[in-house]
Amino acid sequence: MRLRRTVHVTYASEPGSPDLENEDFLSAGPRLAVVLDGVTPMVRTDTGCRHGVAWYARTLGGHFVRLAGRDDGQVTVPLADCLAGAIVATRDAHAGTCDLAHPDSPAATVAAVRLRGDALDVLDYLVLADSAVLLDLGEERLTVFTDHRAGDVGRRLRAEGEVPSAPRVRSFRNRPGGYWVAADRPESAYEALVGTIDATGLRRLAVASDGATRLVDTFGTYDWRGMLDALAADDGPAGWIARTRETERADATAEPARRRGRGKVHDDASVAFLRPTP
Ligand SMILES: [Zn+2]
Repeated sequence: MRLRRTVHVTYASEPGSPDLENEDFLSAGPRLAVVLDGVTPMVRTDTGCRHGVAWYARTLGGHFVRLAGRDDGQVTVPLADCLAGAIVATRDAHAGTCDLAHPDSPAATVAAVRLRGDALDVLDYLVLADSAVLLDLGEERLTVFTDHRAGDVGRRLRAEGEVPSAPRVRSFRNRPGGYWVAADRPESAYEALVGTIDATGLRRLAVASDGATRLVDTFGTYDWRGMLDALAADDGPAGWIARTRETERADATAEPARRRGRGKVHDDASVAFLRPTP
C-alpha cells in the first residue's frame, strides 16, 4: 500500500505523578494510533509479576503495534487477532517467572485506530475497557467509541444495594457478564468493541486513555467535539493534558461536596491526534 496523503500526527503522554512510572503506552503514526492504559493494581507490590504494570503495557503495546502494522500486501489481519497475538506473546514473555493466575496480575486497556488503503479511506477501530476513540467523519458526523462495562459493573452492584469494593468489582474482570481487559488470556481480545468503517470523509481522529478524557466525561467542561478542537489547536495534546491537570488541581481543592473527580487526583494521560490533509 502506498500512502498518498499527508497525515499530521501529534501526541502527548504524561504520568499522573512525577514519582510514579507512566503506565500508559502510546504509539502513533500516519496509519496506526494505539493507546494502552495499564490497570493500577490494588496493591502495587502484590501482583504476582516481577516486571510491573508499565512493563506489561509497554510489552503488550509493542507486540500489538508490530502485528497491527504489518503490511503483507492484500491480507489485513483483524485488530482483534493482532491483540490476541500480542496477549499471547506478552504472556509467554513472563509465564516462566511470574504468577499469571494472580487475580491482580498486570492488565491493560487498549484503544486503537488503523487507516488502510492508498487514500486512507478504510478505518479499523478497537476499544477494550475504558479508553476512547473519537472520529470526526465530516459533515457533522462525530463518532465516539468507549467501553463502559467496568463502570457498569459498579453501577449494577450499587443499583442492587451493594457498596462495591475494589476486590468485588475486580472479581468481574474477564468474566462473561463482567468486563474485559487485556491480561493473560487471548479470548479477551474478542470481547473488544471492533469495527471497520468507510473513512472517506475523515477529518480528524483521537485515541485517548481515560486520564485524557476527564475534561469531557468527569468534569464536563468540554464535549467530544470541543476536545477535538482543542487537540487541533497550536498547543495540541500537550496543552490538552496541561488543561486537564489545572482542572484536576482546582477540583481537588474544592469543597468535598463540589468535587467532580473520584479516586486519584491525577491519572496517567495519553492522547494521539491524527489529521489527514484533504
Ligand atoms: Zn511478569
